[in-house]
Amino acid sequence: MTRRRFGLGTTAIHGTPHRRADWSPVAPPLLQSTTFVNPVGSEEEVLYTRYGNNPTQLEIARKYALLEGAENAVFVASGMGATALAHLAVLRPGDHLVSSEWIYGGTRGLFDQELGRFGITVTYVDPDEPRLWKKAVRKETRAIFIETPTNPLMRVLDLEPVARVAREFGLALLVDGTFASPINFRPLEHGADVVITSATKYLNGHSDVIAGAVAGSASLVEEVIRLMRLWGQAIDPHAAWLIDRGMRTLGVRMERHNANGMAVARWAATQPDIARVHYPGLPTHPDHARAKKVLDGFGGMVGLELRGGVPAAERLLRRLKLVAHAPSLAGVESLVSEPRLTSHKAIGAAARARIGIPDGFLRLSCGIEDAEDIIADLAEGLG
Ligand SMILES: *Cc1c(COP(=O)(O)O)cnc(C)c1O
Repeated sequence: MTRRRFGLGTTAIHGTPHRRADWSPVAPPLLQSTTFVNPVGSEEEVLYTRYGNNPTQLEIARKYALLEGAENAVFVASGMGATALAHLAVLRPGDHLVSSEWIYGGTRGLFDQELGRFGITVTYVDPDEPRLWKKAVRKETRAIFIETPTNPLMRVLDLEPVARVAREFGLALLVDGTFASPINFRPLEHGADVVITSATKYLNGHSDVIAGAVAGSASLVEEVIRLMRLWGQAIDPHAAWLIDRGMRTLGVRMERHNANGMAVARWAATQPDIARVHYPGLPTHPDHARAKKVLDGFGGMVGLELRGGVPAAERLLRRLKLVAHAPSLAGVESLVSEPRLTSHKAIGAAARARIGIPDGFLRLSCGIEDAEDIIADLAEGLG
């Protein structure tokens, strides 16, 4: 008997599909309980929700591990929690981390403000100069961190040269793949050792849960679980249950996010008021060829540079009806935000302009509404 590998859409719904027992519930029960009755005299580990071994917590971890092609996975209380614990799991006091320069602002804050307390130092590398990965490695280097696709320029990094350096020096390669979700990109298939996702985004997809996950080898995940227990990062069972519900539609949601991202980007590229569109599905994007090769979908995130700068951006934001002006991304509803006031506020206008985020830049998260309606809202806002 050959075991058929199930598709990602099926896996996101069922985990490993199995025949259900008579009268068992079709939807998984929510076990909103901190603790569970212990058999008297049992030497087995107790069930306690802070330990992350509540069955509702374990259910989503199994599904997510299957989606990423990982041995195991664990969910924690936020994407930042996942990033923090994954790094604590691979780094020791005195170690050195090599990180991409193009990373989420919160992650940058964690590296710059918190790793120092463990004597961990960080060197940032410009991913446009792939030979610098090797140059940045020192005797104390233990890990490399990258994020792909990036925020808000949607750059798609080439993992191969980074993975080669990681292998050569025996370093752990950690990848934040939040912007793609495992439907569009699975970093472990490209040489990563650890994948981190903010489940707040596409995995849950309904803008109503904060959570994160780490997937990788059994031993790495075991270490993250150990840290999760001691640093108190377990996910609440209700949040886990909502994520399970969200994951059931991950396959179809991503199909629609991908289609809407493409439709909006193509339309935006024809608009005289829009100077530049950043979307990896467009041939004008610097990483289009690579994106076509490594991604299974280009996603729903689109960067728009308005010709009229801040006044034009604010005028558009005030006129939008369907698309909400809010930070965060990857929910069923379309959202738009200004990196100048959110993710890239701290670095200042000059530095933003240097890295390709001029004032008047809008980051659009295309939801799963009808594409014509998103486009009509933007058109009316510009008009
Ligand atoms: C949102 C985000 C995070 C942080 O996730 P939270 O769930 O908000 O803690 C990390 N990385 C990326 C790429 C993100 O977009």
